Amino acid sequence: MNTPLLSVRDLHVNFGTSEGDVQAVRGVSFDIDRGETLAIVGESGSGKSVTASAIMRLNFGADIRVSGSALFEGKDILSMGEEEVRKMRGSDVAMIFQDPLTALNPFYTVGNQISEAYTIHHPGTSKKELRALALDAIEKVGIPEPVKRIKQYPHEFSGGMRQRIVIAMALINQPKLLIADEPTTALDVTVQAQILELIGVMQEENGTAVILITHDLGVVAEVTERVLVMYAGRLVEKASVIDAFASPTHPYTRGLLNSVKSLDSDRHSRLEPIPGIPPSLIDLPTGCPFHSRCRYAASLNGRCSTEVPELKAVGNSWSACHLPVDLLAAPIKESL
Ligand code: SF4
Repeated sequence: MNTPLLSVRDLHVNFGTSEGDVQAVRGVSFDIDRGETLAIVGESGSGKSVTASAIMRLNFGADIRVSGSALFEGKDILSMGEEEVRKMRGSDVAMIFQDPLTALNPFYTVGNQISEAYTIHHPGTSKKELRALALDAIEKVGIPEPVKRIKQYPHEFSGGMRQRIVIAMALINQPKLLIADEPTTALDVTVQAQILELIGVMQEENGTAVILITHDLGVVAEVTERVLVMYAGRLVEKASVIDAFASPTHPYTRGLLNSVKSLDSDRHSRLEPIPGIPPSLIDLPTGCPFHSRCRYAASLNGRCSTEVPELKAVGNSWSACHLPVDLLAAPIKESL
């Protein structure tokens, strides 16, 4: 049996605040294989970005408690020393964020910044070699006139071009895993499609696995193979993208799908937003965290508000819902 590239088990992340403990991630477990593309979706505050940051060890601070494990090629990232984490970041595991400006230094040319991303992990590389690598990286991410562009500063690039530079920096060391946190949210639709295509091409060339964090189900359908759906810090559904879209097994996934318009839907059909708002992560409700918004909760005689549902197999998918397995998929599927 192949060992997954990354295996996350029972990940918990808590933040201490003046108002109380924020339980941002609560017992998340998943695997990703080499070369695979996995999406993590959910509304704001569902815990998807915090999960990614914990894997990168970006949110380890005084008031933050992280537990569980994240085995990368068999080594637990969560218990690595700082030096080991520094070596891993950017070489084996790289991350790109929604806002490319946060990843770029306005005082250095893009050429310097791409070279720097490489020299951190390859000290002693000659200046000539670095320039050649940076030019190649700029060209690969589809930026015209690399000889001119290499000397320019981030403010001289458009938002889409800046994100291309960040991708070049992330991929120059050919990481085994790329975590992309809402990489296209700040971009217009055309540029978004170009960036997603670019990530796909780079992934194919280097065999990189990609975790895509997004709230955009259109993006998920376009580029990923499997999807994890998060709600209030927990995984509520794990499925292939085909299964999640054709026959979602969790009422929340169904709600997310019903709240976006598909290309083949009737022009006059109404979008159905999910009623209510997600619960406070400081003062979580008992039972299923979705129960105050779920239309099926009333049919289960109070079980939903008292007992936390565990993930269970439903056909090819996994769903954290108390509805019986044989009934679970049927009403959801029919109403889509
Ligand atoms: Fe809805 Fe109950 Fe299932 Fe939660 S456990 S999703 S409240 S039916």
